[in-house]
Amino acid sequence: MWPFVVEDLSSVLPLYALGTATSLPACPATNPLEWTNYDCNVTLYGYSIGFSMFAVIAFTVSVFAFELMLDLRQRFVLSSDEQPTKLYSVVGAIDASDPTKKSNLKSEIMAKFVSSQAYGLDKINFSVFSQFYGLIEGCGFMLLGAYPYLWKMASDLGLKLGWTEADEIKVSCLFFVLMTLCGEATGLPLSIYSTFFLEKKHGFNKTTPQLFVKDKIQSLVLTFLIGSPVLALLLYIVKSTGKLFYLYAWALMFVFSVTMMTIYPAFIMPIFNKFDPLPEGELKSSIEALASSINYPLTKLFIIDGSKRSSHSNAFMFGFGKNKRIVLFDTLMKQVTNDEILSILGHELGHWALSHTLVNFVVTQLYFGAAFFGYGLCLNTNYLYSAFGFDRDSIPTLVSLILFMFYFWAPLDKVISFLLTINTRMAEFSADRYSIGLGMKTLQSGLTKIHIENLGSMKSDKWYSTYHYSHPPLAERLEAMAVEEMAFNYKKK
Ligand SMILES: [Zn+2]
Repeated sequence: MWPFVVEDLSSVLPLYALGTATSLPACPATNPLEWTNYDCNVTLYGYSIGFSMFAVIAFTVSVFAFELMLDLRQRFVLSSDEQPTKLYSVVGAIDASDPTKKSNLKSEIMAKFVSSQAYGLDKINFSVFSQFYGLIEGCGFMLLGAYPYLWKMASDLGLKLGWTEADEIKVSCLFFVLMTLCGEATGLPLSIYSTFFLEKKHGFNKTTPQLFVKDKIQSLVLTFLIGSPVLALLLYIVKSTGKLFYLYAWALMFVFSVTMMTIYPAFIMPIFNKFDPLPEGELKSSIEALASSINYPLTKLFIIDGSKRSSHSNAFMFGFGKNKRIVLFDTLMKQVTNDEILSILGHELGHWALSHTLVNFVVTQLYFGAAFFGYGLCLNTNYLYSAFGFDRDSIPTLVSLILFMFYFWAPLDKVISFLLTINTRMAEFSADRYSIGLGMKTLQSGLTKIHIENLGSMKSDKWYSTYHYSHPPLAERLEAMAVEEMAFNYKKK
């Protein structure tokens, strides 16, 4: 039998006609399972819950079911022994095109197939478990009234510190600390398993337990130090700037994003990693020559000790205006040749030259603007929030903000995230084309080597990769590069 019944459908519909329910009676219930909107109850196996909480749980469960279906499809692909013949043939063509005839990528990739499948399978099993864990945690959090409980804890602590009702912003910062600690505690078992069991089993983890604990403590302290003042400012804006608050909140997020983009790599990352200047030599001078050939204002080149935590490899760029830096992981330097590093940087520089970085920044800012505007529309609909166990006459601003951003905004967020994933994948193809257009001949071999070293997936389910992959599957990417190289060589002739 269908497990829930909407008792009075006529009252469900006005729920989303925002701002119309201000005359609803206050919620007198004390039992968490009886917290309702009083304009509409939904009964689940005899338990009554408010409609907005019901809608949120229904959406969360639906997303879980959809993503589980994708995970199971991917799991099926990763469990099968069928060889990735398409990838083998594309990689075989890279070997054949090597003028020195030394390239042997096809046999390397064939040798790693079994390990790559095993790593992928362990990751997808872990992902299924994590999502299930997250679902139980999230729904349990709502149904057991963890939000009002933590809010009461923060208020009681505030009372002991001599704070009054007027100190809502201070209590909110305390609530933020408690929420973060709570999330960290519930996520800790997963994080330990992923680092010390899953990654270790496949030879990637280099983090020691001491470093793990130090990282966690440092990240938490930084979250509180940076997050609390920004949060306090945001709440102050929402509470005091009237109807157009979303414009001020948007401006705050803009300033915050720009500040973080500047200070994160320059001041925060060095807390966790050692940044050494790239030594003088052939690699440094060729990177500088490459940067100046496309007018990239490179000011500093670093090597970072990524190997301290993991043997996965990476490279990135950061900085504003005329002050840009490139960072190479020490792990990357061990996995590929200097020529291949240049080709990979050609790809990264492509993201800059083709304005992908700028477009991403603008899109993120528009996203913040839309989210705050949406929140503004729901600001006077306390009945939506009271279903989560708060007195509808005094919903703390932070609570409504969290409930809106985490839950009510979630359906739109899912759609936007999916569109952005598609856009990122397209940007990857364009950045590859850019690198090849610069005359780089080793992008294919460089990427294949990194893929082998990182035990990246050699096969993927079409639906799963479309939904989840920010980078196109390797075979598709290499194929597109081969076509681009042919076109480039043809043009040169
Ligand atoms: Zn890229």
